[in-house]
Amino acid sequence: MSSTQAPATHLRENPFELAQSQLRRVGETFAVDPNLIRVLSHCKKGVEVSVPVQMDDGSVSVFQGYRVVHNMTRGPAKGGIRYHPAVTQDEVKALAMWMTWKCALMGLPFGGAKGGVICDPKELSLGEKERLTRRYTSEIINEIGPEKDIPAPDVGTDAQVMAWIFDTYSMNVGHSVLGVVTGKPLSVGGSVGRDGATARGSLYCIRTALQKQGGRLHDTRVAVQGFGNVGSNLARLLAEEGVRVIAVSDSKGGIHNPYGIDVPAAIAYKAEHGALGGFPGADEITNDELIELDCDVLVPCALEQVITSENADRVRARMICEGANGPTTPAADDILEDRGILVLPDVLSNAGGVVVSYFEWVQGLQEYFWKEYEVNAKLNDIVVRAFEETWSTKERYATSMRTAAYGIAVQRVAEATTIRGLYP
Ligand code: GLU
Repeated sequence: MSSTQAPATHLRENPFELAQSQLRRVGETFAVDPNLIRVLSHCKKGVEVSVPVQMDDGSVSVFQGYRVVHNMTRGPAKGGIRYHPAVTQDEVKALAMWMTWKCALMGLPFGGAKGGVICDPKELSLGEKERLTRRYTSEIINEIGPEKDIPAPDVGTDAQVMAWIFDTYSMNVGHSVLGVVTGKPLSVGGSVGRDGATARGSLYCIRTALQKQGGRLHDTRVAVQGFGNVGSNLARLLAEEGVRVIAVSDSKGGIHNPYGIDVPAAIAYKAEHGALGGFPGADEITNDELIELDCDVLVPCALEQVITSENADRVRARMICEGANGPTTPAADDILEDRGILVLPDVLSNAGGVVVSYFEWVQGLQEYFWKEYEVNAKLNDIVVRAFEETWSTKERYATSMRTAAYGIAVQRVAEATTIRGLYP
């Protein structure tokens, strides 16, 4: 049996320590009881599992998986599952904590969780991915459930993976449990609008932020890093709104044209060639170069820590919309704030996904499904309300959008914790 080792992480700083330091900063700004900050600095529970999988060549590989619940004070824990070679336990813990703040900021009755498996999904066959998913689900089956902890897609997972999780859980309990996982295909209780929901939420945030600054979408030049679910859908939606998308990228690199990229053609090119490189009518750029492009809005939609103290002073955008979780380090945040660059934080600007996950969970529990216009209208209401709350908190406390957003969220969780009382 071979054991699959994680490659060196792409992260320069420990993400969980960064998440904890963000929390401390919020505690100071909003004078939250230090006892509560101490409680919320820790994850409630987590499991580490080994996932043996029969590979297509007959060998057995053992993958390492995690599922971490940060908090469930306001309701069942909620958060995606990531398949990526550089997953670490501390990354999963940070992502779980951010889910708690995201759900609280959106006013959803959920806590926060995250899962991850150290693997390269691009190297796995469909059969290998299915066996890995089913075994991982079996290993965490006592942790998840519609009232306990509800997974969803994240980097490297999709609706097909959610269908296998739904099926494995349902086969074990003996009946279909729609509420155990969100981001499912429409044929097994998914919600219309879930696939593009994260990107749609980002679009609503960019639009509202531009309105605050007297700008308009169709006068705006946007660079999008990442071409997975969030990046490709957002580039498409922005182009449909008349925005000039001047650059897009995938994990291998990006393409740039200051006059605008034909986004549907880029999506078709990527589907055909497996990469954006070589797309006609655009210059090839690296992912690092994309961050420093001359544009109005920069939208990192890939992984964490791409805007750091090393490149934050070279960012030329006047606004950053975090489609990814944790793309900006706290040190970079300080530099961007000093330079007057508006950062729309992850817990606000990529929350559209979990908002429609909430709608999917509600629809599944009721076995009653909504129309797409209802989903999008309700999504708009929730995201724009959270944006306005964050904006007014930022103004009142003369702080950043991130500190304001985390501040609202942490205070909501702190209030729920206080009113419930410390058990026993
Ligand atoms: N993985 C997504 C996120 O980071 C979605 C989570 C969910 O829908 O539960 O927000």
